[in-house]
Amino acid sequence: MYITFPDFNEIDHRLLLEDICEWSHNLFLRFFQYLVDTAGHLGIACILYVLLNILLYILIIRWGVVSFNRNARNFKRVLFVIAHPDDECMFFGPTILNYTRKENCTVYLMCLSTGKSYGMGSVRKNELYKSCQVLGIPQNHIMVHNHTLLPDAMDVRWPIDVVAELISKNIDSLGITALITFDRYGVSNHYNHCSIYYGIASLIFNEKIPKDNCGVKRFQDVLFLT
Ligand SMILES: [Zn+2]
Repeated sequence: MYITFPDFNEIDHRLLLEDICEWSHNLFLRFFQYLVDTAGHLGIACILYVLLNILLYILIIRWGVVSFNRNARNFKRVLFVIAHPDDECMFFGPTILNYTRKENCTVYLMCLSTGKSYGMGSVRKNELYKSCQVLGIPQNHIMVHNHTLLPDAMDVRWPIDVVAELISKNIDSLGITALITFDRYGVSNHYNHCSIYYGIASLIFNEKIPKDNCGVKRFQDVLFLT
């Protein structure tokens, strides 16, 4: 009579396989629970985010409780300073519309060149008038300059003192309370655009802009300097 015993190696493999299966199962359950918990937290965060946005919308847009425009009182006589015809719609269109649609706000625009680098100065000037008509600026509120030192050219930096003087004259003669223009990079890095920023910066630096009345809003920076 023979008695057979199981092979020890066979027992080890079977037990090992069972352990691995159990461990994998537990790991899957824990991972699944983690996913459920995370989804729950994300869901709560999304709901809170939406509720917060709705609350801010009601407070800011509907009730006007919060205002980010600290110098709104200054925006009674606004002067937009641009370098070329077409800047008004390319860079400032929505902002101009915002102010021309406001009650008790008078909008002016000065353009420091006729944009004649392509030999189309008079055409572009007329286009500027028509564009401003759509934007709500009357023709007698538009000043187009044609200065020999301020050519329409990508690679020409305009003399800051000339730019500053032209702008300063209009601030004084029109009783301007707010200036809106390009930031230091001219939005598109066009040298003519940048020159306007530095012209106005020199006016501020030399205290030639009346601080109590005239706010300066640089394009994109939304920075009020008064
Ligand atoms: Zn331009």
